[in-house]
Amino acid sequence: MKEQTYETDVAVIGGGCSGIAAAIAAARIGANVIIVDRLGFLGGMATAALVSPMMTFHAKSGQIIDGIGQQLVDRLHEQGFSPGHVPDTIGFVPTVTPIDPEGFKLIAMEMVLEAGAKPLLHQLVVDVDSDNGKVKSVIAVGLTSLSRIKASVFIDCTGNARLVELGGGELACGREADSLTQPATMIFRVGNVDLHEIVDFIKANPEDFILGCAPQDLDAEQPLAVAGFFGKVREGVEHGVFHVDRDRLLLFSGVMPGEVVVNVTRVKVLDPADPVDITRAEIEGRRQVYDVFQFLKTRIPGFSAAQLIGTGCQIGIRETSRPVGDYILTQEDLLSGRDFADSVARGAFPIDIHSPDGKGLTALKLDRSYAIPYRCLRPKGLTNLLCAGRAISVTHEAYASTRVMPTCLATGQAAGTAAAIAIGREGDVRDIDIDVLRATLVRNGAILYEPS
Ligand SMILES: Cc1cc2nc3c(=O)[nH]c(=O)nc-3n(C[C@H](O)[C@H](O)[C@H](O)COP(=O)(O)OP(=O)(O)OC[C@H]3O[C@@H](n4cnc5c(N)ncnc54)[C@H](O)[C@@H]3O)c2cc1C
Repeated sequence: MKEQTYETDVAVIGGGCSGIAAAIAAARIGANVIIVDRLGFLGGMATAALVSPMMTFHAKSGQIIDGIGQQLVDRLHEQGFSPGHVPDTIGFVPTVTPIDPEGFKLIAMEMVLEAGAKPLLHQLVVDVDSDNGKVKSVIAVGLTSLSRIKASVFIDCTGNARLVELGGGELACGREADSLTQPATMIFRVGNVDLHEIVDFIKANPEDFILGCAPQDLDAEQPLAVAGFFGKVREGVEHGVFHVDRDRLLLFSGVMPGEVVVNVTRVKVLDPADPVDITRAEIEGRRQVYDVFQFLKTRIPGFSAAQLIGTGCQIGIRETSRPVGDYILTQEDLLSGRDFADSVARGAFPIDIHSPDGKGLTALKLDRSYAIPYRCLRPKGLTNLLCAGRAISVTHEAYASTRVMPTCLATGQAAGTAAAIAIGREGDVRDIDIDVLRATLVRNGAILYEPS
């Protein structure tokens, strides 16, 4: 067992979208940064669980997320790993941004290294040493290593508020009434799909789809998002060949020609923290992948010659614990497009709840974007710890909007920037000048107001 101690200004725990942006933001301002992940690559759900496309960088009124998130998209686009922002043919959001997971791993790491942050991979944070709400160090274990990471400021980008929990902070989980969380999905990628056949079928049966454009405007040569095949799914259920608790297919064309990202499987995770439950979810998710793949090949136009490219290295977890912070962002805040004096990021994704105990989806679209206050990134009672990404201080309903990747990139950039500023304040994340934080964010490309 190799034991090592590392000392740094800012330690970012978790290398998903939020962690990547947090590490880059803090390092670019001059902080020494270590970014820790339990996996051997960065990206979190975007790479480990194959989530694509990112949605959304835009509100109806225009772009609301820029800065590091946009730079990541630009780099992906330049290298052929994303077409950039494209219209959403389902009409759910103004734009979607397809990403190639392998390209994402490469570019995210390049950007982190270029910023000067140091990645520490295959390290699972399991403990913290803290005193009176101040985290002094975290303990991480690898297969044959034990690392102690000391820092002035820590950023919890674990997606499940693990660091907040270890540091003694308060957590919330799921729906207020019963703590149930949104279901998990094992996403899979399929190649050799004839997208022309899919488009022809939609044009012939538009009533069977949710469409964001006139059917005749669909173009198989352009990125495609498909929600529907309701009739085929009903038929599949009647004939005993479709077993997922879902009423439609959700398909996105991938970045490679003929590639489709399939977001259809659905597994209820009763307790994401329970090893037996999460193991059952992984087994069930993979079983559903093969089941749905057979259904696609035999029943859905365009898929007869399809080949399974792959699944992620883990099931996609939509929802787990979240921290309780200095402010809890609510559905009402989102629906009213509320602004806050300490806003540090914006979001515009609908309140999109995959039912924790049913087949459906409830989606409340937003007329305008909303602000995320800095207070939502500050877990109550912890002095030198910030959080970013899907686990910030929000209600279950607000979480259904803030959890998406562009918003995680935006809150990550905000947390990284705040952490770098807090180094000069003995790591106290409440002792920083909010105007300096907001001005620094704006200088570095963040958008803090609804576009006019
Ligand atoms: C099925 C599904 C579909 C989705 N669809 C979309 C979509 O279409 N568009 C969209 O934009 N978003 C979508 N999302 C949401 C989005 O993918 C995630 O909410 C977002 O990627 C979360 O980013 P994050 O940085 O907060 O956390 P994550 O991506 O979960 O990253 C957390 C990282 O922390 C690491 N980690 C965790 N604990 C520890 C620890 N103790 N020690 C060390 N490392 C640790 C993990 O390995 C991981 O890399 C979807 C999510 C799912 C699951």
